[in-house]
Amino acid sequence: MAGEPQADCLFCKIAAGKVPATIVRETDTTVAFRDINPQAPTHVLVIPKVHYPDAATLAAAEPQVAADILRAAEEIAELDDIKETGFRIVFNTGSGAGQTVFHTHAHILGGRSLQWPPG
Ligand code: AMP
Ligand code: ZN
Repeated sequence: MAGEPQADCLFCKIAAGKVPATIVRETDTTVAFRDINPQAPTHVLVIPKVHYPDAATLAAAEPQVAADILRAAEEIAELDDIKETGFRIVFNTGSGAGQTVFHTHAHILGGRSLQWPPG
């Protein structure tokens, strides 16, 4: 069924607590944890507990959960005190854009100056 956990998915395992992660926030529908290879002083990933391969697929199937990710992102920014200086929410979509884990995740980046356009 759509959204069901996938046995071979790393982020499903993190969401289920089967793989350890530095969790910063959890809600009924989302989990946020520090990226293992941070690209900025704040680099947190926010994932839905349900499994969809990318942001658009999640938004089409469960729009409320997609909105929950965006709300969680702002709360992470408040927690890490980067709301005033600004932060970036990135959904890499497709391997050509650098997506390596095919379970929807938002990167929350901040705490340093961020270039535009991104590389
Ligand atoms: P993407 O390349 O957009 O698919 O992002 C995947 C992100 O997951 C990368 O930034 C990785 O550093 C991060 N990542 C991979 N494995 C883990 C892990 N076990 N715990 C935390 N972050 C991870
Ligand atoms: Zn998954």
